[in-house]
Amino acid sequence: MNNKQRVLIVDDEKFNRQMLSELLLPYYDVFLAKDGEQAIALASAEPPPDLILLDVVMPGMDGYEVLRRLRSDERTCNIAVMFVTGMSEEDDETKGLDLGAVDYVFKPFRSAVVRARVRNHMSYIWQRKQLELDAFIDGLTGIPNRRQFDQAVETEWRRANRHGTPLSLAMVDVDFFKPYNDTYGHGAGDEALRQIAKAMSQALNRSSELVARYGGEEFVLLLPEVEPDEAVKIAERVRLAVAALGLLHEESNAAPFVTISVGGVSLIPSLKTPVAEMLTRADKQLYLAKQAGRNRVSWETVI
Ligand SMILES: [Mg+2]
Repeated sequence: MNNKQRVLIVDDEKFNRQMLSELLLPYYDVFLAKDGEQAIALASAEPPPDLILLDVVMPGMDGYEVLRRLRSDERTCNIAVMFVTGMSEEDDETKGLDLGAVDYVFKPFRSAVVRARVRNHMSYIWQRKQLELDAFIDGLTGIPNRRQFDQAVETEWRRANRHGTPLSLAMVDVDFFKPYNDTYGHGAGDEALRQIAKAMSQALNRSSELVARYGGEEFVLLLPEVEPDEAVKIAERVRLAVAALGLLHEESNAAPFVTISVGGVSLIPSLKTPVAEMLTRADKQLYLAKQAGRNRVSWETVI
């Protein structure tokens, strides 16, 4: 996979585009635009550029106008923009910075300076992106955390409610996890949670399906856009995937290895069944799965 950061160079003069792209091509994926219209189209593409080097003086739409338009569109409003300009009056620099440009470079270019400034901003942008990603990932298991689940379930709930399609979610609990920790130690417990999380993730097929760590030895499954009987099958596949790890568990009354219990609900979301209500119902099913002897799936379908 290509992990290079992306830079968009916007300049009406071919010579400037060439110079800048030769300078940056060894380090970044470089895209070129020769006017404001092209710049906005390329900036709105997916994935967006990390940084835009934007000429100020261009025929038609000038750099300031391009920046204004980028800022007014939610797809492009957070892209870092660095002005490239031949003008050196302080007023112009202030104007660009006021509009939200992160920096200025002046023509004629000094290669080392341009490279260093771009590198500094790219490094900052990369770090910020990592922090944003980290905030949604569970530190122990590397799968989505509760925060990511909370956002995803709200989005999927609204979508399903709007379209009248089913939504399924399930609570997952590792059976006899406290005795496991007590017997094999917390290090082994952590390693078991990592393996369980991995096995559950791998048992899911579609990108819209999500397994997240809810807290402790509790996980949660979010299964949008599948019929209830399919959701139950997925839950069953997840349960079997964990059992198939065969992690020895001599203190379990459910099996001689680590198992999970799953309680789920499938319904078409309505105002009577907000996310909190769905979680409560899933929790009730989880309780029933535990009561019935654990290492099983219990499900409520309200359709
Ligand atoms: Mg120009």
